[in-house]
Amino acid sequence: MIRFVSTRGVGEAVSFSEAVTRGLAPDGGLYVPAAWPTLTPEALPAEAPLHRAACSVIAPFLEGDALAPELDRIMDEAFNFPAPVVDVDPTRGLSLLELFHGPTAAFKDFGARFLAGCLTRLRINAAKPLRILVATSGDTGGAVAAAFHNRPGVEVVVLFPKGLVSPTQEHQLTCWGGNVRSFKVRGTFDDCQRLVKAAFADETWRARFDLSSANSINLGRLLPQMAYLAATSLAQWRKHGAPISLVVPSGNLGHGTGAVWARKIGMPIANIVLAHNANRTLPDFLETGAWRPRPSMATLASAMDVGDPSNAERLRHLFPSSEALREAVSAYVIDDDAIRARIQDGFQRYGQIWCPHTTAGVEAYERHVAAGRARGRWVVAATAHPAKFREVVEPLVGQAVPIPDSLAGLFSRAADAGEIAPNLTDLAHALD
Ligand SMILES: *Cc1c(COP(=O)(O)O)cnc(C)c1O
Repeated sequence: MIRFVSTRGVGEAVSFSEAVTRGLAPDGGLYVPAAWPTLTPEALPAEAPLHRAACSVIAPFLEGDALAPELDRIMDEAFNFPAPVVDVDPTRGLSLLELFHGPTAAFKDFGARFLAGCLTRLRINAAKPLRILVATSGDTGGAVAAAFHNRPGVEVVVLFPKGLVSPTQEHQLTCWGGNVRSFKVRGTFDDCQRLVKAAFADETWRARFDLSSANSINLGRLLPQMAYLAATSLAQWRKHGAPISLVVPSGNLGHGTGAVWARKIGMPIANIVLAHNANRTLPDFLETGAWRPRPSMATLASAMDVGDPSNAERLRHLFPSSEALREAVSAYVIDDDAIRARIQDGFQRYGQIWCPHTTAGVEAYERHVAAGRARGRWVVAATAHPAKFREVVEPLVGQAVPIPDSLAGLFSRAADAGEIAPNLTDLAHALD
């Protein structure tokens, strides 16, 4: 049975169920596996659909856990939409992994739905509902709200920075009602995240409100992300006979950590490239060896606007020195001008329209090629549907982006949000 320990090394090893319920470890660290299973690609089922292949990858992490008997059903429910690999440039072996076919049109649907499946089952007999507190720079809150809406035993409180999310995103954060409540915070994403961390750090708060977290600090978000990247690498390896390399558009680094974990357990993944926007804390760390978090800056790829990425703690736990981490991953800084230019180039050259985050990923690939470092086949994670960012994309490509049915359905719902200042007193009033 695999147990999970805190990156800060204090406290006992816990089961998967316990790690997921707690969110953050009591010492403030993040849960990581105390030991790693090793999977061999040959031993995993061939020709399995995504949710089955992903299930085989997660299974060893849940062996002996209270949720193990439910894993099949959790995966069937959570992974009930496709994640196709589509060609961008076949002659160069470049494709996209489209992760935006879920209810809120971003990859976070996978993790949020898996986490919801786990937490609702664990809380089925609890006396009072679990409060899921989630700070969001845009996409997380929508995915979490959609995944937990109308589920028994849980209530969701979404905090987002007032005026700093796109109109489409704001609607997705505020259109739920029922067991989901949303608050505009007069501050930045960092203020929202600080507020969530302060609430968690306070024992009396945790007890009073029965709090848990659905941010990517929660292990229940990471394992499914690891699993679909693993399943994709397996399918590509079977098809082409060689490991693929991955580009992951990154902010809080939960997705990138999923990629690193997938390779760690033996999946056929060669290189991992992290594409960051102007929030360059991780690329700077790889370059200088100094970890210097900063305030987050607003960019076109707003879901990656994170100046102090939480999951860097998991990466640094696995690779304690900057040299070791530099061996494991490469990172690029992609500013807004480069994103704009690459959105136009993608449309002109390939007739494809990408969201700003995905575009940062493609731009990172191009820089890797220009540096002479990109060999073999490459898959860029396409993290959101361009319609979510149509205010940015449409003027650049000169045409309207068709809206997927899932998003269109959300627009027919009425929106409602409260407003608070970034302090615990205001948050307590909001929660009562
Ligand atoms: C959240 C998000 C990212 C960044 O993922 P992290 O796990 O925070 O690094 C990238 N693109 C989109 C569209 C997102 O919503």
